Amino acid sequence: MSDERELKPATLLAHGGRRPEDDGGDVAPPLHPSTNYARDEAYSLINPAGSYSRDANPTYLPVERMLARLEGGEEALLFGSGMAATAAVVQALKPGDHIVGLKVMYWGIRGWLIDFCADWGLGLDLADAADPQSLAQAIQPGRTKLVWIESPCNPTWDVVDIVDAARIAHQAGARLAVDSTVATPVHTRPIELGADMVMHSATKSLNGHGDAVAGLLVTARKDAFWDRVHANRANGGAVLGPFETWLLHRGLRTLHLRVDRSSANALAIARHFHDHPKLTAVLYPGLESHPGHAIAKRQMQGGYGAMMSLRVKAAPGGADATALGAAALGVAARCKLIVRATSLGGTESLIEHRASVEGPTSPIPADLLRLSIGIEDKDDLIADLEQALAAA
Ligand SMILES: *Cc1c(COP(=O)(O)O)cnc(C)c1O
Repeated sequence: MSDERELKPATLLAHGGRRPEDDGGDVAPPLHPSTNYARDEAYSLINPAGSYSRDANPTYLPVERMLARLEGGEEALLFGSGMAATAAVVQALKPGDHIVGLKVMYWGIRGWLIDFCADWGLGLDLADAADPQSLAQAIQPGRTKLVWIESPCNPTWDVVDIVDAARIAHQAGARLAVDSTVATPVHTRPIELGADMVMHSATKSLNGHGDAVAGLLVTARKDAFWDRVHANRANGGAVLGPFETWLLHRGLRTLHLRVDRSSANALAIARHFHDHPKLTAVLYPGLESHPGHAIAKRQMQGGYGAMMSLRVKAAPGGADATALGAAALGVAARCKLIVRATSLGGTESLIEHRASVEGPTSPIPADLLRLSIGIEDKDDLIADLEQALAAA
C-alpha cells in the first residue's frame, strides 16, 4: 500500500496492511507453508523474502510491516510466543548488565526473569508500578541496560507513565521496552511516547480468537541491539508457524472493532459494579477512582482496555485469605456465561482467580478475580455477574 502512512489504523487493519496487487491478486492474505525458497539460474532468490523459513517467511512480511506502522516503529518481528519475544530481548543483553522490571506484571515474565537473571549473571531489580519514584530508584546508571514495563499491568491495572519511564531509562543510558499486550496499538503507541521497543503477546487481543500462540516485537530503530534480537529469533528458532501467522493476520483485520467493543463493554461493567455491596473494589483504569486514571487518560486513546479485576468481600464471619479466596472462587463458580479460563483479549469474556493459578508464592490477593471482557452484549455480561455476586 503506497500511501499506508496516511491511513488511519482502522483502515490499515481492515485491509490487512496490504493490497491484492502485492500478492498476485489474492483479496484475502495468502498462506506460504513452504520451508525453503527456490533460486533462479543466476542463483538469485525468486521471492526476495528469504531462502529458509527460520530466517523469514513471505507470510510474515505484510503482518510485520503493518504492525510496525501501527506502532510507529521502524521494524517488527513475529515470534513463536510473547515469552519467546521477551527472551530474545533479554538474551541480547550481556552478562553483568542490569534490568529493571516491575513487582506487579505478567507473572510468566516476572518469574522467568527472576530465574534467568540469577542463572545468567544479569542483575534484576523490581520497581513498584504505582510509584514513579520507585523506577528511578531501581536504576543503576551505567549498568542498567533495559527497563521493562507493562501498562496497564497485570492484574491491578496500574498505569505506568511511559513518557516518564522513557526519560528515566534514557538518562541512565538504558533502553525502555513496553509490554503493551493489554493496551493494544489501538489505545497506546509506546514508541511515540519515547519507548525503544514494544512487545505484544499476540496470542491475546492481536489475534483475538484464542486459537494461536504468537509474539511480536516492534523497534523504534534498527541498531546493533536489534540485530542481536533478530539473530536470537533465527538462531534460537523462536519462529511463528506460517499457519499461526495467517490466523493472526486474519484476526488483526478486526482488531479495531474488537478492541473498541470490548473496551466499551469493560467501561460499562466497571461503572455498573464499582460500588456493588458484594465487592470491596473494581480495579479498572477507566474509572476516575483508579489511581492510574489521570495517566491513563493522557496515554490511552479511545478506551482503557478489556481487562479489569474485582475484589470480592468475604462472607460474614471470616476475612482471612482462605475465606476471601473461597468467596472469590464462589463468584467464579456461579458464572454461567463468562468462562472460567486463563488468557485474555478474546471474543468471549473470561474470569480467573489468579491466586489459585499462581500458587502460594503469588503476590496477588486471594479476593481478586481477573476479568477479560469480550465483545458480547454488555447487558448479558452484567446480568451474569449480578447473579454470580447475588449469592456471595
Ligand atoms: C500472555 C502474556 C504474555 C506472554 O505471552 P505468550 O504469548 O503467552 O508467550 C506476556 N505479557 C502479557 C501481558 C500477557 O498477557
